[in-house]
Amino acid sequence: MNVTKTFLPPFDDYVNALKKVWDSGWVTNRGENTVALEQEIKQKLGTKTCLAVNNGTLALQIALKALDIKGEVITTPLSYVATTTSILWEHCDPVFVDVLPETGGINPALIEDAITPRTTCIMAVHCYGIPCDVEAIGAIAKKHSLKIIYDAAHSFGVSIKGQSIFNYGDISTTSFHATKLFNSVEGGGIFCANNELHEKCRLLHQFGHDYDNYISQGTNAKMSEFHSIMGRLNLRHLDAIIALRKEIVARYTEEMSDLPIRFVVPRDTEVHWNFAYCPILFNNEKALLQSFNHLKKIGINCRRYFYPALNTLPYLSKSLPCPEGENFAKRVLCLPLFPQMTPQEQSNIIENLKKSFH
Ligand SMILES: *Cc1c(COP(=O)(O)O)cnc(C)c1O
Repeated sequence: MNVTKTFLPPFDDYVNALKKVWDSGWVTNRGENTVALEQEIKQKLGTKTCLAVNNGTLALQIALKALDIKGEVITTPLSYVATTTSILWEHCDPVFVDVLPETGGINPALIEDAITPRTTCIMAVHCYGIPCDVEAIGAIAKKHSLKIIYDAAHSFGVSIKGQSIFNYGDISTTSFHATKLFNSVEGGGIFCANNELHEKCRLLHQFGHDYDNYISQGTNAKMSEFHSIMGRLNLRHLDAIIALRKEIVARYTEEMSDLPIRFVVPRDTEVHWNFAYCPILFNNEKALLQSFNHLKKIGINCRRYFYPALNTLPYLSKSLPCPEGENFAKRVLCLPLFPQMTPQEQSNIIENLKKSFH
């Protein structure tokens, strides 16, 4: 068993939708399913805009390009590596600001000290779907005229006070990869603060031109009809997926309350969380490895999301230490979590995790 299992809709539903694509012969380049997926996501989540793209990494790169980001980008040591590499890929310098030990989100109190005349942007991550302090980050960005990009790859379905998390920042991006809570096999989304930015992103994702009108440089980040169908069908199951994940996390929390571990969850009661991951913090790396290896031996593969801390990546030209982030990364482990998990499978995980401490 792996840390996640891709959610797939009923096979017949996919085949029926495919038949229509066969009939029309229109397989990509903003076909009807891509356009419909964007509309359905906007409606479901209440976002201002939505652009479907082919993955979450190009979504980040397009966001950086659309906002014309240069120089230094303030970012977090605790995320998937794509956050850092997208910054490097766009010829910018990542500047790592340490995290809050409670949730692993970027620590807003440390951001201002990291700002230099070369800083143009804050790229923060709602790690595990737990929102960053969007109010504090917004105020800092305003004061220093910085752009904000939220890597919201983990945050599909998350809201604060009823407002979609994708509505924060100049641009929020997400991933619909097969390992994520909501998937279209491969895919991603770009959510902009206004229509002008949305139009820029739309152009950038289709080579920078509309028919014979060549407007800007661009890339190819278009979503195909095959992926869009998967997204549309899975979207119908979103509420059920989140509800099942919630139950599984609740059982983990309840039955393992006596273990020397801490569950990483949102602290803000106004957050509607999506239970994208079940991260637990061990007291030290040795304890983590003991449990990790014990479970691995019997075929239960947890993942060290996220290790190593990104400020320690070997190919960075310079980086400052982030003691909290590095400490967090060494002690955090994500437990298997997917809606198809049976009660027996979960019992087995819990029993063996308990055993691993002996
Ligand atoms: C998965 C992920 C990405 C990349 O998304 P892809 O669709 O796999 O390209 C970027 N950032 C974070 C935080 C992620 O977890």
